Amino acid sequence: MVDAEKLSIARGQLGPKCASCGSPLIFAEALVIDSEYHCFSCYEKVTGASSASEPKEVSGLRMD
Ligand SMILES: [Zn+2]
Repeated sequence: MVDAEKLSIARGQLGPKCASCGSPLIFAEALVIDSEYHCFSCYEKVTGASSASEPKEVSGLRMD
């Protein structure tokens, strides 16, 4: 089960909060890493994936 502390209804529907930045998400856009939900930008930081149109420096990369 998902911890209620990590859920939000800020987006008008029940959804998770980003484990990295705390942004409210909807399940459709949440990306799971190590059983935690992340927004797309945090997912990019964690995974090292980058958008073709918006390259950016990756810092604090978790290598686990
Ligand atoms: Zn985030």
